[in-house]
Amino acid sequence: MEIRYKSTRNEKDTVTASQAILQGLAKDGGLFVPTAIPTLDVSLDKLATMSYQEVAYEVLKLFLTDYTEAELKHCINSAYDEKFDVKEIAPLKKADGAYYLELFHGATIAFKDMALSILPHLLTTAAKKNQNEGEIVILTATSGDTGKAALAGFADVPGTRIIVFYPKNGVSRIQEKQMVTQKGANTHVIGITGNFDDAQTGVKQMFGNEELKERMAKAGFCFSSANSINIGRLVPQVAYYVYAYTRLLADGTLKAGEEMNVTVPTGNFGNILAAYYAKLMGTPIGKLICASNDNKVLYDFFETGTYDRNREFILTTSPSMDILISSNLERLIYMIAGCDAAKTTELMNSLKTTGKYTITDEMKARLADFTGGYSTEAQTAEAIKSLYEKTGYVMDTHTAVAAHVYNEYRKATGDDRVTVIASTASPYKFTRSVMGAIDAKYESWSDFDLVDELSRIAGVKVPNAIEEIRTAPVLHNTVCETEKMQAEVEKFLGL
Ligand SMILES: *Cc1c(COP(=O)(O)O)cnc(C)c1O
Repeated sequence: MEIRYKSTRNEKDTVTASQAILQGLAKDGGLFVPTAIPTLDVSLDKLATMSYQEVAYEVLKLFLTDYTEAELKHCINSAYDEKFDVKEIAPLKKADGAYYLELFHGATIAFKDMALSILPHLLTTAAKKNQNEGEIVILTATSGDTGKAALAGFADVPGTRIIVFYPKNGVSRIQEKQMVTQKGANTHVIGITGNFDDAQTGVKQMFGNEELKERMAKAGFCFSSANSINIGRLVPQVAYYVYAYTRLLADGTLKAGEEMNVTVPTGNFGNILAAYYAKLMGTPIGKLICASNDNKVLYDFFETGTYDRNREFILTTSPSMDILISSNLERLIYMIAGCDAAKTTELMNSLKTTGKYTITDEMKARLADFTGGYSTEAQTAEAIKSLYEKTGYVMDTHTAVAAHVYNEYRKATGDDRVTVIASTASPYKFTRSVMGAIDAKYESWSDFDLVDELSRIAGVKVPNAIEEIRTAPVLHNTVCETEKMQAEVEKFLGL
């Protein structure tokens, strides 16, 4: 069955998967969604015998139907290779009764690698398929992890350039160091004086700027996005939920047909939406537990049906979740509105003009698979410390937000189904916060002394991504005001 893509804000026009990946965002500002969610056509038992790459193929082939088998397998095998430091790509670790799905074994040690190691291949293949001759300019806003993962994925890829905007004061020191030391003549990294939402809004504005696009086209450039608004980010993420389920099936933790719950530390709502797609494809998933930090706009939304971004933006120790405008929620809104583009447009316009919207009762009833929770800074730190003391397992701050929310959910509901917690970053990426949570004595230690100490107490080798930045020179030091983002892009492209 051919799957096409349409905008959440327009009923009529559809494009192929490769065109949707090339465009990133739809022209009307909506997000591309598949016209139908395909169902898995291989049994879970069979998938349980397959490798990560094989499972990924079984998922991707159903969504990206205009790619040939050879193209998809090439993309998959180029992405999920030795860049990952474990053969399983996404291993599960059991600790204190939950299953941590470690999605951070790629080149930049955050779960963004799961999608961003394949996106450049999907995109360059899409350009070929669509006779797109211009140079592709990847424009990306990052709350810290997407930026580095996208830079690593696109660095020196012929026919592409990549520009990353990050909030200068909103990322961890290791995250910043990873980005500003990025090599590759086609890379450009810029700190902005605003927060992540400002960066994301600035990028979306450039996507919607027809005058800018025309000038770019004349100069031989076209924009695409590496943010999770790109369907080419979302689809590869579905694979690891199918993979996780089938591993638990293979080792007997789950019986055939038995449901597992999923808890996801959430920011832009891409990762948890991928879990929902996995469920809709036929993976037996029960509850989708959406975990937020102090920026708990999603928790409030699931509780009340009102999405309201009019609140203080709080900087936390889980910076990749410091977001008040969760872009991918629009895809869920569209689904629960019964694929009603007019209704989705109305709500998104309301978000733009008033900063909030309220869904109907009928829409709210369709959210029964989801539940929200949040973790304060103190609770997140406590979750890290107590899991470490109980089991020796050290998790990062984002994963800890999810662990806390999961523990509270389980206590409150008694729902003790097997639960997978999406472990979205290596603790090495947030060493200072992680070690500070374990023992206050670490506060005065230097960044790399903390790295070595973490290795000692966790018994985990320091990942290459960290070894690389110990001595790497800073190659990017541009900082600009939010209003100047477009000017920076024009300068880099020589427009
Ligand atoms: C991006 C990110 C998140 C949030 O994921 P979304 O798909 O944006 O909801 C959570 N944790 C880490 C470490 C991240 O990098």
